[in-house]
Amino acid sequence: MATDSECIFCKIVAGEVPATKIAEDEHSLAFMDINPGTRGHALVIPKAHSADLLEIPEDDLARVTAMAKEIARRAKERLGADGVNLVNSCGADAWQTVFHFHMHVLPRYKDDTVKLPWMPGAGGDTDEIAAAGRELAS
Ligand code: 5GP
Ligand code: ZN
Repeated sequence: MATDSECIFCKIVAGEVPATKIAEDEHSLAFMDINPGTRGHALVIPKAHSADLLEIPEDDLARVTAMAKEIARRAKERLGADGVNLVNSCGADAWQTVFHFHMHVLPRYKDDTVKLPWMPGAGGDTDEIAAAGRELAS
């Protein structure tokens, strides 16, 4: 299994660094974020080291996503969350700080203090949206 001896999340997988684990199977691990944005903030990772979204194999990504969905379900049922954000940051300029792929499972509560980095529905330039869409299509 791919591992990186310098990686903090690989050390958590190996049991060399403590973590509050909440779910585990052969390929994936979920544990509590050490600096939670809201109550119940958890991280789901592949046990094999992949740096980020562009590097993680599709099967590991599917397994991590399934475990994140299960943690989201528990957050609603057991913590009384009103909603959940799944968040992945890919690259330092997108705020990634730990370079072992992880999905944040962020329980959301009515009137919590989490803010979005952009304003959905604020409008945009139709031609520019279409131009960017053409570059991203196919
Ligand atoms: P990123 O900024 O890369 O999207 O998220 C990294 C997350 O990992 C942060 O929310 C941070 O609080 C969490 N984190 C960093 N180091 C540790 C650690 O040693 N243990 C745990 N449980 N979480 C960590
Ligand atoms: Zn790692």
